[in-house]
Amino acid sequence: MSKVAAKAFITALAEANPNAESELIFHNNFELLVSVVLSAQATDKSVNKATEPLFKVAPGPKEMAELGEDGIAHFIKTIGLWRAKARNVALLSNQLLQKHNGEVPSDRTSLEALPGVGRKTANVVMNVAFGADTMAVDTHIFRIGNRTGLAPGKTTLQVEEGLISQIPKAMLRPAHHWLILHGRYVCKARSPECSKCNATQWCLYPEKNLPEKELHTKRSLS
Ligand code: SF4
Repeated sequence: MSKVAAKAFITALAEANPNAESELIFHNNFELLVSVVLSAQATDKSVNKATEPLFKVAPGPKEMAELGEDGIAHFIKTIGLWRAKARNVALLSNQLLQKHNGEVPSDRTSLEALPGVGRKTANVVMNVAFGADTMAVDTHIFRIGNRTGLAPGKTTLQVEEGLISQIPKAMLRPAHHWLILHGRYVCKARSPECSKCNATQWCLYPEKNLPEKELHTKRSLS
């Protein structure tokens, strides 16, 4: 996809969701970080359900460290991978207290040094908490980048780099949210709802114009 088409594609997504923002519920940078760590392979809805009571008890790293791994586990057992996530949240809370004065750091190196924090989580925190022009590539954005021709790549890093080079800098920060919402609700994994998509004109997906029923049948046969 050309850069001109990429800009038009992203502009169309922006028009569909002008006030797009994270669907995770948090009240400070620490809660954002914990929510993103918990959201790996889990829905935002399930994370919000677990964190509402958790953050009442532990809104900061001190309280979370005091709660400890077992205490955290008690709140997050409904979320996939809860054992490892409880351990990581306890460890990262301690690390924030010991190395960062209880604050969430803003730089990639420090963020990725925290237990349970990889490149994607660091990108989300840098983008949402600190206004950095990062692009966190989750399963939805990886699919859209490849399916539409916006930023094809075999790895999430290739797609991330492609999106950063394709999307105008001024649009990069909110583009993360526009793309995620588009992937969740329109350009879905199994059956993209192309008839509801206002970026169809610029999308390079070869099957985009098939009626949805036919598209669904074709995909289930493949
Ligand atoms: S036209 Fe279809 S495949 Fe292309 S971005 Fe829109 S929903 Fe996705």
